[in-house]
Order: sequence, then structure tokens, then C-alpha cells
Amino acid sequence: MKPSSPLTFVLVVTVIATASLVSCGTSDESSETSANSESVADPTTPETQVTTTSSVSSSTVTEPVPKLASDPRVTAEVSPSADCRISDVTESEQASSAFPRPSDLAGPELVRILAVPVSTANHVFGEADRKLMEESLVATAEYFSAVSYGRGEVSWSVLEPEDWVTLEQTSEELGLVGGGPMTDREAIVAQAHGRIPTTANVGSFDVIGVYLPAVDEMLFGQSGVIPSAPKSDAGVTQRFILLGGGYLRFWQVTAHELGHAWIGLEDLYSFETQSLYVGPWDIMQLALLATSPELTAWNRWLAGWLGDSQVRCVARTGETVHFLAPVEGRSSLPQMVVVPVSESAAVVVETRRITEFDKAGDKVVVYSVDTSFRSGFGPIRLVAELDVAGATAESGNVRVEVLERSVEGDLVGIVVS
Ligand SMILES: [Zn+2]
Repeated sequence: MKPSSPLTFVLVVTVIATASLVSCGTSDESSETSANSESVADPTTPETQVTTTSSVSSSTVTEPVPKLASDPRVTAEVSPSADCRISDVTESEQASSAFPRPSDLAGPELVRILAVPVSTANHVFGEADRKLMEESLVATAEYFSAVSYGRGEVSWSVLEPEDWVTLEQTSEELGLVGGGPMTDREAIVAQAHGRIPTTANVGSFDVIGVYLPAVDEMLFGQSGVIPSAPKSDAGVTQRFILLGGGYLRFWQVTAHELGHAWIGLEDLYSFETQSLYVGPWDIMQLALLATSPELTAWNRWLAGWLGDSQVRCVARTGETVHFLAPVEGRSSLPQMVVVPVSESAAVVVETRRITEFDKAGDKVVVYSVDTSFRSGFGPIRLVAELDVAGATAESGNVRVEVLERSVEGDLVGIVVS
């Protein structure tokens, strides 16, 4: 701790976040986020740099066993979950849709973000921008609390106002206006990172959040490893999320970028056409177009938030039957069927319900995971959305049938030929 570090304030936050439905190609704002907060000075830790922290907690749930879960048709013996941990043949270092997970991530329990407001010569990061930034961080923390079943915490702090960064060039000169979705703006991150004062204890953070003002002509979200690849005090390679312009109004973009920077998840939309490979079912799509942005069960397993006991692994031919509880709720029951079809590919089945975040429907979702496709080229692809008993889908030698549905979960049959 440095003696010049500012006082600590702990912000206790409650938030109601509603997933937004944004029509394709527009910047219509339909998200509703409200936050009630109070600041309390903590006299016991006066030299800590943290100014705001949003923390989450989980509650204990007593779970009744649904009737379908004990249906006699359910196959008792399945394969060990290890047989379904397919490997990533692209061997990506920063992100992967398979196993083993990238080794230098923050870990699923906690990510610590330092938010760094950045002004340019012609656009000042002001109080209104700070409010939007903080609202998006609060909503992001709430989102990850939900999709991790309370197992993952987003902790964030904002650099003290006297330390906010001002770049000497205009937004245009910095390349922050215009540009496509794949424009690389790492140079801005390097500049901003280099100006964070040592008093900010930057090593105590896993992710640096670089935030530009909410100016409509700037519109970008990016993540990656900070160019100089510094390590945090915990030995984690520090990553960045870079948010600018109108995207400050949409927490989903911060959450998407954190999906890369915290969990090492891959992009599930097409880098070439911006189409959505896995429909509306994951925030790692183009985040504002994903109408059911809870993470897929597969991505939760990658994150470590879905345990092996929730995975029904079917590494053999023949017919099997499985009960699946909805992905959105914390459950000790199975929430995903995985059928490995090669060392690096699998077919996955899960069931979804309409919830606070998921609006796209009440469906059994079938998708394929194939790691020969890199991030942005379809490593996870939707096979089918099934909504009634009797509906079927096929992917290669795997046939899926919905046998029976209930509010608490569904019975699915799998035939591997
Ligand atoms: Zn992305």
C-alpha cells in the first residue's frame, strides 16, 4: 500500500437488470437497469485503492426432485465426464472452447477489474460517462452471479478521478471513430495502461477495463492480453477489456468482453458475416443480438461453474435416456448431455427456460462443439431448437429426441449409431 493511496469506499449494490432486446444493426436502447446504492467509508482499511466493489452471494436452495428425474426410462450408467472433455486442436492460447482451459486466467471464483476512464483531446470522460460505466459493471456482476449460480464474483474498482487518463490526440486521430468490428485498438490500451499511476496498485487486478466516453460515433468493444503482458500479483497474465462510445449504455458488451478476459471463452458469431452460429443462446454471440444471453451449459462447464455431476457423458453407441434440468437454475441434477464424436468434437443437449435473461423461448437446444473451427469461425454451432415432445434432431451419427417435457426439466433420448 502506498501512503498516497486514497480512502476506501465500499459500495453495497443491489440491482435489477433486464436483458435488452436490440434489433439488428441499430443502436436502439431498450435495456433497463436501475441501481440503488449507498457508500460507506471503511475506517479499517484507509489505504486500500478500491473505491467501489460489487459483490454477489448465493443462497442455499432446497431442491425437490422432479417426477421426470426419477423416471424409470432414465439410463442409470453413463460414461465418466472425463471422456467428454474434448481437446482444442487449434491450441489457442488466449481462448478456447475445449480442454484443457487456458492456464493463466483469473480463475472462476473471482475476477478483479480496475476501470480506467480515458478522455481524448476532443471528448472528455465525464460524470455521465462514469455513471454509465458503473451501471454496466454492476449489471455485469449481477449477470455473472446468475450464470455462475453464485460461484463467480465480479469485483471492480474505479481509478481515482485525479488519475483518470487523458490522451493528447483526438478520437479521430486515435482511430476510435469508425472502423469495423475487427479493428484492433490495442495501442490505446497500451497508452492508457502506461499512464496508470503506481499508487493504483495495478498488480492487484486481473483485468484492466479501459473506458472511453459514451460518444455515439465511437462504438467498440474489445478484449485481449495487455500488450506488455504484465502479470498480476497472483501470477495471472493481465488482460484488458476496452469499451467505448455507445456501448457504455449496454452492459451486455462489458459482460461479453469479460467472457473472453475472465473465462477465456471464444466468439460465437461469425467474424466474416456477423451471423450468430449458436442462435440467441449465449452472450458470446454478438452480445446485443443474443436474446437469451445466459451462457450455454457447455461454456459453464468450461468456466467451472457447471460441475461434472451435472454432465451426462455418452461416449458409446446405442440408445440412452436422460433427464435434464434447465440450465438457468442452480441444480444438483444433470443439466447437459454430451456425446463426443471425435477427440475434438461433440454434440451437446441442454434445456432452457424463459427467465430474466433468457427470452428466446422454452426449448431443448441441441448444438455441436467442434474445435477445428477457431473463435469467430463457429466452434459452437446450433443444430436444433426443440420445443415439443416427439421433436427430433440429428447431427452426424447422433439422434436426439424429446421424450417428455415438464416445467422442472425434460426427458431426452439419444441414439448414437
Ligand atoms: Zn468477442
